[in-house]
Amino acid sequence: MRIHGEYVIYCKNMIKEVPVNSFSLNGNEKEYLQECIDTGWISGEGPFIDKFEKTFSQYIGRSHGVAVSNGSAALDVAIVAAGIGKGDEVIMPTFTIISPALSVVRAGAIPVLVDSDPVTWNMDVSQVERKITPKTKAIVIVHIYGLPVEVDEVLTLAKKYNLKVIEDAAEMHGQTFRGKKCGTFGDISIFSFYANKVINTGEGGMILCDDISLANRCKKLRNLAFEPGGPRFVHYEMGYNYRMTNMQAALGLAQLEQIEMLLNKKSAIGKYYHEHLKFLINRGYQLPLQSTDYAENIYWVFGLVAPDEKEKNKIIEYLKTRKIGNRPFFWCMHEQPVFKEMDLFKDERYPVAEKLARNGFYIPSGVGLTQEELETVSKTICEFYG
Ligand SMILES: *Cc1c(COP(=O)(O)O)cnc(C)c1O
Repeated sequence: MRIHGEYVIYCKNMIKEVPVNSFSLNGNEKEYLQECIDTGWISGEGPFIDKFEKTFSQYIGRSHGVAVSNGSAALDVAIVAAGIGKGDEVIMPTFTIISPALSVVRAGAIPVLVDSDPVTWNMDVSQVERKITPKTKAIVIVHIYGLPVEVDEVLTLAKKYNLKVIEDAAEMHGQTFRGKKCGTFGDISIFSFYANKVINTGEGGMILCDDISLANRCKKLRNLAFEPGGPRFVHYEMGYNYRMTNMQAALGLAQLEQIEMLLNKKSAIGKYYHEHLKFLINRGYQLPLQSTDYAENIYWVFGLVAPDEKEKNKIIEYLKTRKIGNRPFFWCMHEQPVFKEMDLFKDERYPVAEKLARNGFYIPSGVGLTQEELETVSKTICEFYG
C-alpha cells in the first residue's frame, strides 16, 4: 500500500461501481419461478405464457399478445406477418437499435431511412412523406429513450398511402401518446423485456395486435410454422423457434404487477437528474426533453448529448475512472458497416442523427438504482466540471 502504483490500485478498488443498468425483482418473481420448477413447466409451454400474454395485452389495450423469446424476434415475426417481403420499401428512422433494420433486410425488403428530430431524438415525421414511393409497404416507428414518435402524422400518412405501421415500443412500457398507450398504434406492435427494459424477463418480447388471424399467424411463425391441426412435422413455410419459456413469462407476470412502481422509479430518476444536471445546459449539453404536448418523458434511459464528440469522450473517460456505467447512443443505420457491405444507404447523410450518435450517451437509470448511487452519479458529473 505504500508503493504508489499499488496505492492507486487500492484506491480505485475502493470506488463502488454504479452499473448503467440495474433491475429489481422484489415482487412475486421467486414464487412464480418456484412454481415453474415445482410443476415442471419450464419450456415454451405452460400456464404463465398465456397468463402473461393476456395480462400484458390487456394492460396495453390490445386484443392479442404473442410472447416470444426477445424483442428482435418479435420484430422478425411482425415484419413477415405484416406481409413485408422481397423488394418492398420500409420507412424507418436511421437512429435506432439495429433490430428493426435487420428484420426488414432479412425479409428481403429495403429500409428507407429518415433523419431524427433534434429535440425529441425520434424520427422526424415531417420528412416521412417525401420518402414514400410506389414500392413503400410500411412505416416502422421506433419510440426512442422515453418519448413517443409523433404518431398522429404517421397514422395519417399510413392511411393516405395505404401503408402498414409496425410499432417498435420496446422502450415504451406504460408510455402514452395523447393519453393512449404506446403499443396500440401499429397494425402490429412489439415490446422487449430485455433486462434493461422497464418490465424485465431477462430476455423476452411480445407481439401485440387486434386481428385474431394476424395473431395466429404470429403464433405459427413463433413455433417453427407447425401447421395448426395439420400433420405434425410437415411444414409449408419457414418459421422460427422464438418461443418464450414459461419461466420468462413467470417473471413477466410478476414484473407487470409492479409496473406502476417501476415507472414511478424511472420518472423520479429522470427528475433528479434534471434537477442536478441542468448546469450542463450552460456547458452546451442537451438534456432529454421533459415533456411535449403529447407525452411526458418516462426516461427509459437518461441521455445526455455533449456539445461535441471530444467533450463526450472526455467525460466518458472520466466516468470510466470513477466506475460510473454509461453507454453511447445508438449508431445510425446508414453508418453500419454491415449494411455498407451490402451497398445499402450509399452516400446517404442524416446530420441530426449523426450528431446524436456521436455526441450522445446515457447514464445509470436502472430501476434498481439506489438513492446513494443516483447522488454519486450526479456528484461525479458535477465534480468533473468543477
Ligand atoms: C431493446 C430494443 C429492441 C430489442 O429487444 P431485444 O429484446 O433486446 O431483442 C428493439 N427495439 C428497441 C427500440 C429496443 O430498445
